[in-house]
Amino acid sequence: MTNYIDSYKNKGARKKLVGELREKGIHDEQVLAAIGKIQRHYFFNKTFESHAYEDKAFPIGEGQTISQPYTVAYQTQLLQISPGDKVLEIGTGSGYQCCILAELKANVYSIERHDALLIKAKEMIQYFGYHVNTLCGDGTKGWPAEAPFDKILVTAGAPVIPKTLAAQLAIGGIMVIPVGDEKSQKMITVVRKSSTKFEKIVLSDFKFVPLIGAEGW
Ligand code: SAM
Repeated sequence: MTNYIDSYKNKGARKKLVGELREKGIHDEQVLAAIGKIQRHYFFNKTFESHAYEDKAFPIGEGQTISQPYTVAYQTQLLQISPGDKVLEIGTGSGYQCCILAELKANVYSIERHDALLIKAKEMIQYFGYHVNTLCGDGTKGWPAEAPFDKILVTAGAPVIPKTLAAQLAIGGIMVIPVGDEKSQKMITVVRKSSTKFEKIVLSDFKFVPLIGAEGW
């Protein structure tokens, strides 16, 4: 297993990133503290480590990306995580977002369709010492055996809100999902008000890799 080093340079860059996120409007102190704690550069190949604290998405293989730190912070803030929340993430990717959620003491379930990414992500989650339940498959179908979830986070761009996922949201639960076309998506929060009533709030524009699956692209 790789022995990762958190140099003063990286610690400083991470602190600076947290300041930038604050300036861009992230105000949830718990989210900012989690970003300030998790070493994002551990998720990068050593050659590209110097890019880890730029507020940018970065390739992780299989044509996928580790999301931009602002996007991770923005989506996490919208989820309003309380300790013990049962959270389903669709799109494990690098595992970075899983670590942020686990640091906020959420009970995390995460689905990734690329096995190669999931293997690496699981190693990272283990390295950080968190426990996350993972599954390789089509996340648009959710995780029926574990539903309902207090929070659902989709980290890939969807053409529509998958009905199957919405049905797996607990009453009072929140789903955060980017919805749009291949070029750009609007961040949407869905709050489940009752067994039949869902309240939708449409927020700002983002650009994600596509959500591929039965209820995706
Ligand atoms: N949350 C990730 C992180 O912290 O690194 C970043 C996610 S990346 C922007 C989107 C991920 O969603 C990709 O890894 C992609 O393979 C995955 N994905 C796309 N469609 C999916 C689906 N139907 N089910 C599960 N994963 C999916």
